Amino acid sequence: MKAATKPLLEVKHLKQYFSMKKESPFQKKQYVKAVDDISFGVEEGTTLSIVGESGCGKSTTGRAILRLDDPTEGEIHFQGRDLAKLSRRELKDVRGDIQVIFQDPFASLNPRRTIRQMLNESMKIQDVLPKSDREGRMLELMTLVGLPPDSLERLPHEFSGGQRQRIGIARALSVNPKMIICDEAVSALDVSIQAQVLNLLKKLQKQFNMTYVFISHDLSVVRHISDRIMVMYLGKIVEIADKHSLFNKPSHPYTKALLSAIPVPDLDVARKEIEITGDVPSPINPPSGCRFHTRCPFATDHCRNIEPELRELDDGHLVGCHYAEKLSI
Ligand code: SF4
Repeated sequence: MKAATKPLLEVKHLKQYFSMKKESPFQKKQYVKAVDDISFGVEEGTTLSIVGESGCGKSTTGRAILRLDDPTEGEIHFQGRDLAKLSRRELKDVRGDIQVIFQDPFASLNPRRTIRQMLNESMKIQDVLPKSDREGRMLELMTLVGLPPDSLERLPHEFSGGQRQRIGIARALSVNPKMIICDEAVSALDVSIQAQVLNLLKKLQKQFNMTYVFISHDLSVVRHISDRIMVMYLGKIVEIADKHSLFNKPSHPYTKALLSAIPVPDLDVARKEIEITGDVPSPINPPSGCRFHTRCPFATDHCRNIEPELRELDDGHLVGCHYAEKLSI
């Protein structure tokens, strides 16, 4: 693991609620509690992966950091500024510092613009280089992401999925960001291409001391790229630890269930299978007590009534389960 450095990003008590449309004037206002009071940090030059099923709040967290949605409550400290409090105008100053790579490379690229036009435009908007220096930078970016120089003259549909994701990475890098949020960035790719893109991201991290927030529904995908892993369930953090601790000593039943879904040869240690059934409950009316109790095979009345706090088990290994110590692997 990399030596600890200062946190580049520090999120404190973040809440992201979305109001529901009322069916009648007499109906009480309801909210989708997509993210409900989470706190975490990401150190410079490291990767924090956020993992969980669809609806757990991982992408909403990424969108809040990017201020694509305005947070309901909480603080998002980035390089000493609270992004949650910045006006739209002030946000323009930090837009270039935090970039995003989305799941569907094709949807995130304008089909009518060549790669040259696209890269030129993003550098121009962020005013990162004088016009005369942009050509050299574009060629450099192609080399960095492993594409031939003539790629600049081509349109997105002329590339494969993996190549388009490389273009997405080049576009993110073109404005010299400090941090990149990868939102299911390799989920749409074949396994062998996934590995190539992950290796590229790792290489760039080493080269530029890049910080990543890597969002994925799949723990096996994030294993090689992560320094720390944060597991979310129904808007809450249920476990957060460095990746070795999380894989070798998973302590929340939900994390164990996610790990159970990964084929055993891919793991360092054998572990009991934990199968969870049923769907994720509604984030409009989350279950009382522990939010996972409706699907947890170990739930007790205590779990149904009292919400567990996120507490430290080992150094930097936090878990939100009343019985984490007893439920050993
Ligand atoms: Fe399961 Fe109870 Fe732990 Fe929640 S607190 S994960 S219901 S054992």
